[in-house]
Amino acid sequence: MRKNLYTYSVLLIFSAAFAFLPAHFEESEVLQKLSIQAQDVLFKIRHFTAEAPLQAKEIVLVTIDDESCQQLDARWPWSRKIFASLVQGLKAQGARVIGLNVSFMGAEAGEAKSTQDLADAIKDHGRVIVGTTSDNQSRLIRPYGPIADNVYRYGYLEKIVDIDFAIRRSYWVRFYSTSLNTGHQQVESSFPVQLAAAYWDFPTNAEWLVDITKNTLTATGQPKPELEVGPDGETTINYTASFSDFEQIPAWKVVRGRVPAGFFSGKVVLVGLTSALLSDIHATPLGMMPGVVIQANEFLSILTERTLRFVPDAIAFLLSWLVGLCILILFLLRRFAVSFAAFFIAVFGLFLGTQLLFARDIVMNPLILEIGPMFSFLIGISAGSLRLLVENRFLETKAIHDKLTGLYKYEYLREVLEDEWKRAKKENKPITVIMTDLDKFKNINDTLGHETGNLMIQRAGNVIKESVRKFDIVARYGGDEFVILLIATTESEAIAYRDRLRNYYHEMATGLKEPLLQHSSISIGYATYEPGAAHAPLTTQELVERADKDLFEDKKNRRGWPSR
Ligand code: GH3
Ligand code: MG
Repeated sequence: MRKNLYTYSVLLIFSAAFAFLPAHFEESEVLQKLSIQAQDVLFKIRHFTAEAPLQAKEIVLVTIDDESCQQLDARWPWSRKIFASLVQGLKAQGARVIGLNVSFMGAEAGEAKSTQDLADAIKDHGRVIVGTTSDNQSRLIRPYGPIADNVYRYGYLEKIVDIDFAIRRSYWVRFYSTSLNTGHQQVESSFPVQLAAAYWDFPTNAEWLVDITKNTLTATGQPKPELEVGPDGETTINYTASFSDFEQIPAWKVVRGRVPAGFFSGKVVLVGLTSALLSDIHATPLGMMPGVVIQANEFLSILTERTLRFVPDAIAFLLSWLVGLCILILFLLRRFAVSFAAFFIAVFGLFLGTQLLFARDIVMNPLILEIGPMFSFLIGISAGSLRLLVENRFLETKAIHDKLTGLYKYEYLREVLEDEWKRAKKENKPITVIMTDLDKFKNINDTLGHETGNLMIQRAGNVIKESVRKFDIVARYGGDEFVILLIATTESEAIAYRDRLRNYYHEMATGLKEPLLQHSSISIGYATYEPGAAHAPLTTQELVERADKDLFEDKKNRRGWPSR
């Protein structure tokens, strides 16, 4: 019954602690950070074990890098003239869609012609998307006049930076009007979303709409895509490709016409900064990435309709708790080998499970899942050792202590005596054994009963215990007899102790109510080993026997003391 109570309380404490976890988890910045970083591990492993989606081959990156700046003798920001030649070059090479991850805001100082050249090139190609930014009301800011007039569309480039400064999320769309009749919201879209519209040849009047009942993003009159978005148009970017998964070519080669034939034909071309010097490099789950590669990843996930689906944390907590509970029960049943095995299998299995789910773009928080087994492992180990400790203590106490008086049993004193005897001999120190026996104790038993007799034995034990120093050992020999081990005590000290103890006992007894008890007395014998003394005892046995003999002598000599 006590065992069960212990088991149930540990399980209850474990579950109660678990019930508090979700709230704590939400509030703790450290845990939140750890949690998203744990999810990054899923990204890394998936990227390591699975190829980037096939559609990545339809994207080519044109990199604005240090080499291009050098070759074109141009400082960033480049003149729009260069972009005009770039777009012309891409058109000549058959690029299907061009995404310029650059925002052309305002006029170029003294270069109206340059802007016009770019606008013409854009118009000539017909499917050029440019990036832009939003104002503080999240409304798109138009690129500079003629460019805005001629681009296919423009979309904003902003992303959401997480608490650890990594980019994991973005808004695919931002709402600007809601039609109550249809439940659809008209939206302004991000650069990757507009890129997808160009890729699928949506007519320019096609609007992106969010169905607020289903949280899906669709384009009017278009069969696809149907993308899941959060209630505020937010999405977690499904990173499936790193920089090197895309074909790439430095911008200067395009401007100078040094491109292998057919390199761009039918492709979606994304143009953007990749130089670390030009500071468009960001932390992502797959490591540091140029902004243009982040846009490419988003575009890819729209293209493949691969949005991440999140299993609610509550389900992860529940699963974690269940697994933890099973492991903890094994621990409490003291199947330690099985518990350890279960713990490792659970930790590994849960992680493998999340990774398998993640291969299907389903995200279950790996950190939450591991909390259960980890937690139960810690509690299991500590509860197990605590229990062993308590039980051992209990057994030990029971084994070496006398039940009635709480003093040591004689066997224990005998063991200590062996050690102390050796030490005394080695260190040339004296040691004394005292033996005591209550006088005419049977009388007390017979007259006042065994219970009173027991009480008297206890009182005698207490008096003796209080008469010695902390490090001396007091044991009940049995019946009304006690043995005392006085460490480093000489013969004269032993004699003094005998008188002292007798007086203590006398004081105690005379303070009692019953006349018979008031007259109770104690006989005390001693034996001392003193190094170098003549006739010193040779063994512990001899020492104890001499004390016993002395006790007998004392009893015989003191007939009548103090009251008889
Ligand atoms: P003496 O003066 O010669 O010591 O006489 P005594 O009556 O004390 O006799 P003795 O020491 O030989 O016997 C001790 C008695 O203590 C014997 C036994 O009945 C009694 N006894 C032994 N253990 C217990 C116990 O745990 N409780 C009680 N109440 N009595 C005990
Ligand atoms: Mg006695």
